[in-house]
Amino acid sequence: MRSQAARIIKTSLRHRALVQPATLLRPHSTSARNTRPTVGSKVLRAAPTIPFFGAFFSSNKPDESKENMSYPDQRSEAEWRAVLNPEQFRILREKGTERPGTGEYDSHSPSTGVYNCAGCNAPLYKADHKFKSGCGWPAYFDSIPGAVKRHVDNTFGMKRTEITCSNCGGHLGHVFEGEGYPTPTDERHCVNSVSLRFTEDEGTSGKSKA
Ligand SMILES: [Zn+2]
Repeated sequence: MRSQAARIIKTSLRHRALVQPATLLRPHSTSARNTRPTVGSKVLRAAPTIPFFGAFFSSNKPDESKENMSYPDQRSEAEWRAVLNPEQFRILREKGTERPGTGEYDSHSPSTGVYNCAGCNAPLYKADHKFKSGCGWPAYFDSIPGAVKRHVDNTFGMKRTEITCSNCGGHLGHVFEGEGYPTPTDERHCVNSVSLRFTEDEGTSGKSKA
């Protein structure tokens, strides 16, 4: 009884949908989009896949939190508070930003050495990746391979690419592309000095020390 009613509704809907395009679309038939429904039943058949794709994409959403589980260094918030000063915690663990032109490494230009993560000490940038951008934060045109991860950041209504330490997930800053800097990559890793700790010793920096 119920299914029969459903079938009647379904049939009448299909009938209506088949009839509608021909009458509705005539005046707009110049647009490519509007010519699509003239194949009538084919368009209808495609329609049920839309909820399926919706479900597929929404099931992917929790990956953002899974992403956080992929860092080898999984210290808790309390553990980070114990080893970082309040400013380091605000920037590394809460994605804060230091004021431009105030950072320790903003106009720091050594010829050798490594900038490690201030949180976990993983090596992130070499001295020769650094360049003068004039932006008010340390700028690097590249990182040590695999040392930083990129994430889409939509905060403040801007689409930016956030960079984090691949080992502990600490927030470093953002990466900008195609700005026209005369560097090999035309990328600018705009990093908070607070997120970094410079060492002159290229050989013993990072995880090998721990
Ligand atoms: Zn780190």
